[in-house]
Order: sequence, then C-alpha cells, then structure tokens
Amino acid sequence: MAGHDMCPWTHSPSALPDLGRVRPVRIAVAKETREGETRVAMVPELVGKLTGLGYEVAVEPDAGRHALLADEEYAEAGALIDADALATADVVVSVQPLSPQAVRRLKRGAATISFLPVNQERSLVADLRDVGVTSFAMELVPRISRAQSMDALSSQALVSGYRCAIVAAGMLRRFFPLNMTAAGTVQPAEIVVLGAGVAGLQAIATCKRLGAVVKAYDVRAAAAEEIRSMGAKSIDLELDTLEGAGGYAREMTEDRARRQMELLAPYIAAADALITTAAVPGRQAPLLVTAAMVEAMKPGSVVVDLASESGGNVEGSVAGEVTRIGNASVWGGKNVPASMPGPASKLYAQNIVNILTLMTRKPEGDPGGDAAEGGVFAPDFEDEIVVGSCVTHDGEIRHEATREAIEGPVDAPSEGEPQS
Ligand code: NAD
Repeated sequence: MAGHDMCPWTHSPSALPDLGRVRPVRIAVAKETREGETRVAMVPELVGKLTGLGYEVAVEPDAGRHALLADEEYAEAGALIDADALATADVVVSVQPLSPQAVRRLKRGAATISFLPVNQERSLVADLRDVGVTSFAMELVPRISRAQSMDALSSQALVSGYRCAIVAAGMLRRFFPLNMTAAGTVQPAEIVVLGAGVAGLQAIATCKRLGAVVKAYDVRAAAAEEIRSMGAKSIDLELDTLEGAGGYAREMTEDRARRQMELLAPYIAAADALITTAAVPGRQAPLLVTAAMVEAMKPGSVVVDLASESGGNVEGSVAGEVTRIGNASVWGGKNVPASMPGPASKLYAQNIVNILTLMTRKPEGDPGGDAAEGGVFAPDFEDEIVVGSCVTHDGEIRHEATREAIEGPVDAPSEGEPQS
C-alpha cells in the first residue's frame, strides 16, 4: 500500500539502527491543559496493559497530578516520564483535545485519541488534517454492543449521574431518607429526575440508595421499564414517546414540548429536588423546565441541571454556577466528571486501553497478542468502530459531516467554474 512504509506506527529498523531492532510504538499520555480539567487519560494500574501489548508508554510530567496520581506511580508501573512525550509519540492519548500548539509539535502521521467535539473544534480539526495527524474522537465511537467497553460517553455519564445526585443531597437542607425515631418521623425527600439515560439512571440509583422517593420521566419508550427497575416511579404523561435512531431520543415539536411542560409542572412543584439530564445527540439540550416552573417550587428546593453546558434543560441555569430562581437554588453542571477525577480517569483509561487493543495488530504466531515485542498500532479502516470514530487521517477529514462543514460539499463547483 502506498505510503505504508512511511507510517511512523511501524518504524523501519533504520530509524534507530544502533538498537538493531524495531523501536516500540510509543504511546504518550498528555498532561491536560484545558482549564478545569482534572482527569488524565491513563492511570498507573493500566499502564501494564499497554506495555503488555508491546507499546512503550511515555507520560508527560505531572499528567496525573490533579487525579492524585504521582509520576512515581507511573514510573513504577513501567512508564517513562518524559517532558518531550508528545513530540516523540506515535499515539497520544488525552481526555480533552490537544491544544493547537501541542498538535503542531506532533510527528506527521502520529495519531491522537481523545474526546474531540467536532462541532466546537472545527479549527483544531483543520489543524489535525493539515499536520497529517490521524485523530479519533471518543464521542464518535459507535454505540453498538461490541464497542460498549470503549464507550467513554457512558463511562463519564455514570460519574456525572452519581455526582449530580450527591450534589442535590449536599445542597438540600433536609434528609433524603425516611427517619423514624423516638423524637418523631421525618419524611423522605422527593426527587424528580428528567432524562433517564446513562446519567439519569445512575442519578436515580444513587438517590434511591440514599433513601429518597424518586420519580422520573424520559421520552423514550424503553425508559419507563428502566426507571422502574431502579426502584423509582416512572411518570406517565400519556404523551407519544420519541424514539430516534439507535435507541436515542428525537427532538420534540414545540407543541409537544409545551404540553410536556404543562404536565410535568405539578410534579416539579411538589419535588424537593429536581435533577435534569436530558440530551438529544448532536443538538442543544432540550429546554424542559421554565423559570416559572422553578419559581413554583417550595422554599429551599434544589435544581441540578446536568445539561447546563449544552444549553440547559432548565431556563436560567448557568454552567459552573449556583443561581437563585424564586425559592430554589439552581446548580448548573460544568465538566462534572472532572469533579471525581480518580474514578473518572480510571474508567476513561479502561476505555482507552480497550480501543487501543482493538487498534493493535497482534504479532503473527501470537494469537493472544500480549508478546512484549508485539504492539503494532494498525487501526483497521474496515472496522466500523475505527471508521466511525476517525475524524482525520492521511491529510483528510474523514468524518463526513465535519468535512462538509469545514470544506463545503464535495460537488460544489469551484470559483470561476461554470455553473450548470
Ligand atoms: P443522552 O445523553 O443522549 O440523553 C439522556 C437522556 O435524555 C436519554 O435517555 C433521552 O431519552 C432523554 N431525553 C431526551 N430528550 C428528552 C426530553 N425532552 N424529555 C425527557 N427526556 C429526554 O443519552 P444516553 O444516556 O447517552 O443514552 C441513551 C440511550 O442509549 C439509553 O437507552 C442507553 O441505554 C443507550 N445506550 C446504548 C449504548 C450501547 O449500546 N453501546 C451505549 C450507551 C447508551
């Protein structure tokens, strides 16, 4: 295949003649540089999985500091601590996309694996294309059963769902559980959860474990059974369900949105805490709760809006801030998984190990594939997980919608060309 010998993932021995052998493929773990990011893409306990695949692992100094992971722990696990890790890497793993400056330091033909929200990062995608870097976006990993172990949206939503229930419990100035004591009975808190996907179900489970009475609503038909299986009451508004492709929600019409608000209003007014986690893939979060609905809540009520960063399910919520609407304190989520960097990093790192394992060509004669001299990074572009998550490769934007947004439609006549 043209250009294959040039690929830095499969070094020729001549690259390092003095070693007399092929240099192992180097995976770099980036130190996150975006404000507020505390997670790290690899944890010491999983470094051995990568060296076991035959990779060399280089970690930027202090990469795990905010997740309370010391350089020494990475070194003990078999990683190199290297301030030049990115410039010498064949594959760079990170949580957030690399900065444009870091992208310019990468070797041509290197690969990156990270979250890469293509709609917000168009200029970076163009940079990745221009420097000839192959990039994979974790949020684009298809949500098929074979890819479940690589699904970082789910692993991080689990963290967010747990965290927002704990935030609600911490902000609410009353018990979650029922307490029957000699001094009298204290009724449990009543929580309403809107959106019962991965995060919502985890929020429900956590509120239930804390003893609250939980009611939940989701537009998908399958959600009612999932809500009940968590021990919560499924709110039935007797509206049409909105099932989209791949088991996701569809966008609501204006009329249905208004009707849903009217029917939900009494449930929200009666709740001590409201947790919202609703999203529609690729779109701004749907507005489910107006400021007037929040104003009708009881004194001391708490609202936790996990969708704040993508527009908010609750009118007036602000990402990263607690605002006051009527009698309620409204907490807007901002990079919520980063508030639990240890477990969030560990789960994300396992997703990274699993996707790297998929992209590793096993050494011939070693079907198990964990020979120390193995480890060839060779993503199979026939595999739907590889193709689905690839944003740039070989100097091209491979994610079609992003390519079109950046470069325009393929068939568009170029300037000066006669229009038919
Ligand atoms: P998400 O983050 O896109 O949305 C969160 C929830 O909000 C969803 O349950 C959605 O139905 C709900 N929602 C959207 N609009 C709403 C509205 N107007 N009112 C109320 N609720 C609304 O979804 P997610 O949590 O990532 O996953 C959703 C579904 O996909 C779940 O059924 C989940 O089990 C499934 N899933 C499958 C896989 C897989 O097969 N690999 C992986 C992850 C999730």
